[in-house]
Amino acid sequence: MDSIHALLIAPSTPETQQLGELLTDSSTVRFRIDSVEHMDQALARLRTTRPDIAFLDTAVPGGQGPDDFCRLQNAFAGLPVIVLAGVDDLCSAAQTVQCGAHSYLVKSELDGEALIRHVRHAVRRRRAEADEFRSPMFHLAQQQFLKAAQLMRLDDNIRERLLHPQRTLVVTLPFRRDDYRHVETVIGYRVQHVLTMGPTKGGIRYHEDVDLGEVSAMAMWMTWKCALMHLPFGGAKGGVRIDPTALSRAEKQRLTRRYTMEIIDMIGPERDIPAPDMGTNEQVMAWLMDTYSQQVGRAVPAVVTGKPVVLGGSQGRKEATGRGLVFAIQEAAQHLRMKLDQSTAVVQGFGNVGSHAARFLAELGTRVLAVSDVSGALYHPQGLPIDAVSEYVEQHGSLKGCTLGERLTNQEMLELPCDILVPAALQDQITKENAERIQCKLLAEGANGPTTLEADEILDRRGVFVIPDILGNAGGVTVSYFEWVQDTQNLTWTLDEINDRLHTIMAGAFQRVLNHAQGDSIDVRTAALIEGIDRVAKAKLIRGLFP
Ligand code: NAD
Repeated sequence: MDSIHALLIAPSTPETQQLGELLTDSSTVRFRIDSVEHMDQALARLRTTRPDIAFLDTAVPGGQGPDDFCRLQNAFAGLPVIVLAGVDDLCSAAQTVQCGAHSYLVKSELDGEALIRHVRHAVRRRRAEADEFRSPMFHLAQQQFLKAAQLMRLDDNIRERLLHPQRTLVVTLPFRRDDYRHVETVIGYRVQHVLTMGPTKGGIRYHEDVDLGEVSAMAMWMTWKCALMHLPFGGAKGGVRIDPTALSRAEKQRLTRRYTMEIIDMIGPERDIPAPDMGTNEQVMAWLMDTYSQQVGRAVPAVVTGKPVVLGGSQGRKEATGRGLVFAIQEAAQHLRMKLDQSTAVVQGFGNVGSHAARFLAELGTRVLAVSDVSGALYHPQGLPIDAVSEYVEQHGSLKGCTLGERLTNQEMLELPCDILVPAALQDQITKENAERIQCKLLAEGANGPTTLEADEILDRRGVFVIPDILGNAGGVTVSYFEWVQDTQNLTWTLDEINDRLHTIMAGAFQRVLNHAQGDSIDVRTAALIEGIDRVAKAKLIRGLFP
């Protein structure tokens, strides 16, 4: 990193002067410092200059607290900002980090080395984001991580090492369309976030919006999820940027086999074990397992999880994410003194996770008022007959044309009054635009990343209890772990054994997170993240640094 242009937005005080000196005294980075003492001057300056970083003092004249960060971003989108706070102003500083600032420093505790480290991280991250990692989902994953890291005072080196994935592979791969004249070339990814904990583990997504940032975000969440559940894996994720609904079965098979070949050096039962995610299923895992096995010359069931039972798949894996989510909902309901047989639920997404969650909730007596998929939502004020809806989707491929209830849009459905809302489709569904209108008591996240940071704040203020994604949907990877254990040891467990073990692990993780959140007076998502991050950080510190 050669020279850094820093904008210092702070009143003239001895602390500000000390900060300037620490920057100019650095022997590793050359700084060009531009100082302004009023927020309006800073905004005017950003119209004419493009600094690499800004330091924003919470006590700057003309400042408006956490909103200052947004004002700076409006003037220069993507500007990395480090907040300078007094000891009595840490709450506002933390809120600014949550809005997107890189980090905050306490003015009375400034130390040259830490200061330069923060600057380097922030500038590097901005440069990486401006290129390959630019993605709202990755930004969300990083911002959640940074918020937790700040609260738990995570070691700076560990923080930098965990902010981006350790390994990423981007491939372009061709496959033949059914007419055998046409060759389609698509982009695929495999990302391994942390290699410290054991093999890496994570699903494969086929979706037209998949990009490196999205896959990296999900790999990062997988790391925290596995650590939170005490599973011996680091996080990974893969994907292909394609609309799977536009592929025939034969095309999907050719695509899957070619994608497997492209990533084959990265995967293996002791390296990295894929599983299904959106747009992929048991059949895709069977093709992946077969392609891998053909290459190594013997059957290797343990290379994937979520495969059919007849190939070494586990009982209960298909429905595990939905079942695990409902186990977590049962724990939350007990905490909130909610009776599930007198409650109502709304489920967004009627694929693997959503349809099973809806079914298990209905079995507990909860009235499932609405479900939805990409074609829209289906609503019945008395509760939908979930088995009949599942049968319809099985026969017709989606909810389109289903007359078992009234049709609503997905947005209308999310805002229905209900006790439990289960987002189980895509990321970025509950945002600052609709969070004020969400009317549930319990938000149980089946999807990865369905709630933005701003929406989290609003839900927290409105008293909505959130089961965060890394806890709520962890049943999938937990039973994937059981599948891997059975495959590597050549034994099989019954469905009852699987469900009992899953229940014990989900309930244990829920209680650990709840106790942490209550003990430290923090939100449940941050508590879950801290539980996961702390385990990974400890493992990294104990293993030490090679060489
Ligand atoms: P899936 O492909 O089986 O189902 C996705 C569902 O979402 C489909 O019903 C689809 O029609 C619907 N959908 C797509 N776009 C939509 C939109 N704009 N509005 C409403 N619905 C829409 O996928 P899945 O495996 O059930 O995964 C769903 C979510 O759960 C994803 O975020 C995934 O990462 C997460 N997840 C899945 C697992 C698993 O074991 N499958 C595990 C953990 C997390």
